[in-house]
Amino acid sequence: MNKSIQFQKCSASEESRLQALQSVLAKTKKPFKSGDRIGIKLHWGEIGNKNYLSPLYAREIVKWLQAAGIKPFVVDTTVLYSGGRRDGQESLKTAAKHGFTEEYLGCPIRIGDGLDGKSIIDLPAGFKHFKTVQTGKVVQDADGFVILSHFKAHMEAAFGGSIKNISMGFASRAQKQRMHADAKPKLIKAKCIKCSECVDVCPTGAATMAENNFPVYDPAKCIGCAQCIAMCPETALKIIWDTDIKVFQEKLVETAAAIWRVIQNKTVVINAVIDIVAECDCLPGNHHKIAEDKGFLSTYHPVLADAEAIKLLGAAPFDQAHPNIPWQRQFEYAKEIGFSNF
Ligand code: SF4
Ligand code: SF4
Repeated sequence: MNKSIQFQKCSASEESRLQALQSVLAKTKKPFKSGDRIGIKLHWGEIGNKNYLSPLYAREIVKWLQAAGIKPFVVDTTVLYSGGRRDGQESLKTAAKHGFTEEYLGCPIRIGDGLDGKSIIDLPAGFKHFKTVQTGKVVQDADGFVILSHFKAHMEAAFGGSIKNISMGFASRAQKQRMHADAKPKLIKAKCIKCSECVDVCPTGAATMAENNFPVYDPAKCIGCAQCIAMCPETALKIIWDTDIKVFQEKLVETAAAIWRVIQNKTVVINAVIDIVAECDCLPGNHHKIAEDKGFLSTYHPVLADAEAIKLLGAAPFDQAHPNIPWQRQFEYAKEIGFSNF
């Protein structure tokens, strides 16, 4: 495995960030050839999210690839919840609203599992949780990928970076559900002010206000997305896990590992270690920063990319943002299943 890492630090200014990315790209060897169709896998942000990566960076990667005769496209997949990315058409509208247009980027924008979420394939996995893993067909169809990830904390995975962008990011809706299935909200009544915010953000109708005005959560409808937990203004909701808290991370890692077998020799992994906030770009809102910007890094393995990002930031921001979730588990489990050897 090619373990080379390129890193360039930056300040919080847009100019400094862009220069850092340009510097990293200039030093990054492309495992692609002229004419290849290369997907730039990124997250263009849920409707109402204020922390997603600017399309400026994707456009820079497009230029970097096109300069070598490569044909890039930008790609993301549909999601489980009903915000602005549930189906392909809605998601493309959200992308455009956030500045990710063909005109601006200079390349096509695709939905990796099809506009209807049905362009999917099953990959062999053979792991403890998943014998197979279902992903967007783009994983198989593209000649390679640039995985561009916003590194930040995450309320179920502790941190979200390249592993998560490959795993949840390429997964079919069914696979996303299989990964989330064990997490459910639990109300702490003493803290609840009955504001109904959790009901408003619930994408499935699982959360409703009961007659006595406390919210209730229907386990049959709940998809474990944790939007209610993240958006509650009083932190009156906690995640209860049907199984071990670490299982979500293990499922995340297994999915990434199965996909990685398909794309490993034709993929560059880039972590943007900037705007490091407490929550995922899937959640609406402007989430609080937990660390200063560090810069951009590129390498050729998602576990290495995420390990480097944690090294740059230290453990404290993640320990403090989500103290009950051991961020180390993604790395430990990646090693246990042979996804990484470091
Ligand atoms: S968002 Fe929080 S405080 Fe508001 S009703 Fe739901 S649990 Fe209660
Ligand atoms: S985790 Fe919360 S927001 Fe998500 S589906 Fe369940 S009740 Fe609704």
